[in-house]
Amino acid sequence: MEKKQFQAESKRLLEMMINSIYTQREIFLRELISNASDAIDKMYYKALTDDDLVFDQDSYYIKVIVNKEQRTLTIRDTGVGMNREDLENHLGVIAKSGSLSFKEANQSKDGHDIIGQFGVGFYSAFMVADVVTVISKPVQGTEAYKWVSTGTEGYTIEAAEKEEPGTDIILTIKPSTDEDNYDEYLDEYRLRSIIKKYSDFIRYPILMEQTSS
Ligand code: ADP
Ligand code: MG
Repeated sequence: MEKKQFQAESKRLLEMMINSIYTQREIFLRELISNASDAIDKMYYKALTDDDLVFDQDSYYIKVIVNKEQRTLTIRDTGVGMNREDLENHLGVIAKSGSLSFKEANQSKDGHDIIGQFGVGFYSAFMVADVVTVISKPVQGTEAYKWVSTGTEGYTIEAAEKEEPGTDIILTIKPSTDEDNYDEYLDEYRLRSIIKKYSDFIRYPILMEQTSS
């Protein structure tokens, strides 16, 4: 297992996420659901040009799974998935549109006011989680990999088990303190209202599940 460092810009964005203020935090779910939806869109486009793949709308969904005992919130999709290189190249660096425009805008303004206006992307998970685990299996491939990060320290990638293609983003929700309540991100009603507020237009079903152990 290798420990890798984030790029410098990624590290700065991560630090901002970790120190974000209360009112901005809820948008992490919008970002992760939007990525899940993009991954299913990619599945759809792949199926158009690949005869071996069939896109049956009914078997594609996004699932939000809460485990209160373990303090985990999982965003699961049945999308295109990521191989080892994808995990490395897409989650280790700020490469994409949303994150980039955010970074540029942030150079001239006080970052705290603008987080909500941009697609800050995957790293927004660190606003509510102290550990982010990504387990992914690409639709074209047999091997699954696990990417784990505790934030600015860097990340690790190792082989993992996963039956179905797609991606699980597993957030270990931060402990609540006197000043900061994070428990609300393990509350089904609160999560449903965040989904309604930001993700109502998503084309795929967003299912909710409570689990224990
Ligand atoms: P953006 O969505 O603007 O590209 P993000 O930071 O949200 O930026 O995501 C970075 C990249 O990580 C995505 O472009 C995609 O390649 C990859 N990614 C993130 N989440 C998923 C997912 N659930 N399934 C497949 N790929 C993903
Ligand atoms: Mg995104």
